[in-house]
Amino acid sequence: MPNLKQYYHATILSSIIQARPSTRAPQWKHLEAEWADNASTDNLVWIPKLNRPQPQDCLPTTTLSLKIWDEARPTLTNNSTISKAMPLKSLALIIPDFNYRIWERHGIQFLHQIITNTGLTTFASLQDSHKLPIVAHYSYRQLDSWLRIQLRENTINTQTQKMTAFEEMYTNPTPPQKLISSIYATLPTKHKLHEHKFIKAWETETHKNFTEQEWEYMILTPKNFSLCSRHIELAKKLLYRWYLTPIRLHKYNQSLPTQCWRCKSGTGTMAHIWWTCPSLQQYWKDISKLITNSTGCSLPHDLEHYVLFNIPKALPKTDRYLIFHINIAALGALAQNWLSQTVPSISMCMQQISQAGHFETIMRRQNTPPNKPHKQRRRYWEIAWDKWEKYKGGTTENPQTWAGPRQT
Ligand SMILES: [Zn+2]
Repeated sequence: MPNLKQYYHATILSSIIQARPSTRAPQWKHLEAEWADNASTDNLVWIPKLNRPQPQDCLPTTTLSLKIWDEARPTLTNNSTISKAMPLKSLALIIPDFNYRIWERHGIQFLHQIITNTGLTTFASLQDSHKLPIVAHYSYRQLDSWLRIQLRENTINTQTQKMTAFEEMYTNPTPPQKLISSIYATLPTKHKLHEHKFIKAWETETHKNFTEQEWEYMILTPKNFSLCSRHIELAKKLLYRWYLTPIRLHKYNQSLPTQCWRCKSGTGTMAHIWWTCPSLQQYWKDISKLITNSTGCSLPHDLEHYVLFNIPKALPKTDRYLIFHINIAALGALAQNWLSQTVPSISMCMQQISQAGHFETIMRRQNTPPNKPHKQRRRYWEIAWDKWEKYKGGTTENPQTWAGPRQT
């Protein structure tokens, strides 16, 4: 499951790469620099937080970028105080009167370009490789003296410090095409699924512990098996416990009853309202029968398989697909009767399943390239809806009409 917060951080961090010295600066960078005493984000980020000049009246974007950068920096830069990807332009903010422009004019923009295992590259070899003029010698001495202090204080290690993926991206003249995704991939996964409240709550109510992989499967199943946004939304609301059950409403307003509105006896938890309520026992038994009769598989009678989409992976994909559509129709019918004592009828569920079949068939046919003439392999969803059609054939006069025109 993608981590949205981390993705958001990646978008902010991507702006640092977009504004680095080796590229043509985007317009917003000039605006930002204007507000921040000429110290825009890309100059400030590489200076250790303690030595960093605090720009007055800077734009909120600068403050935000610096905040997110400082949080992510230890993982993006090998946790070193001074990074080899530091632009020489940033050094102008901490070395008084340091003339970085002369270096930039000769193609030297980053620290890693002038550092060897032992320290600063000799001036002679820089003259040789980059045609650095003699007038740059004063700034070279400034750099040399600054670097010696850093080596002594161990804020940089020229021997062992390797550039990280982020630093490589920053110093590379051509950034990767999918910049945000590339940065997202370098950020460590901070949040495990089990830290989410909805997972803890479901596990407490069901007295079960699911693995991270199981949760990932349950969360992804709706999107894998349905093209209908109504199904996906319903499944998400259910998994994330969006529904206002009596027990939740009672927390907000003590005068409201905690009891289930259907049976008037059980405590209205999520598990009760969707599954364990005595008034629903026959309903779920009928749905279970529907699954067995249409797919030939018997699904263990448990909340996790019907309500939380943990459809056993051992079952063939065709059957898991059809089971999902039967379950989501059954759950959708319950949602439609929220706060009502009416238990939905199985024929209403069957109608919903057939409608889903119609929609899925049209959409998936459009999205799938036609089979090559020599290769008439039928897709899992075609087999599934044929199974349903065959099963339903016994209950309707003309099952052909709902499934759309057959491919010949
Ligand atoms: Zn009940």
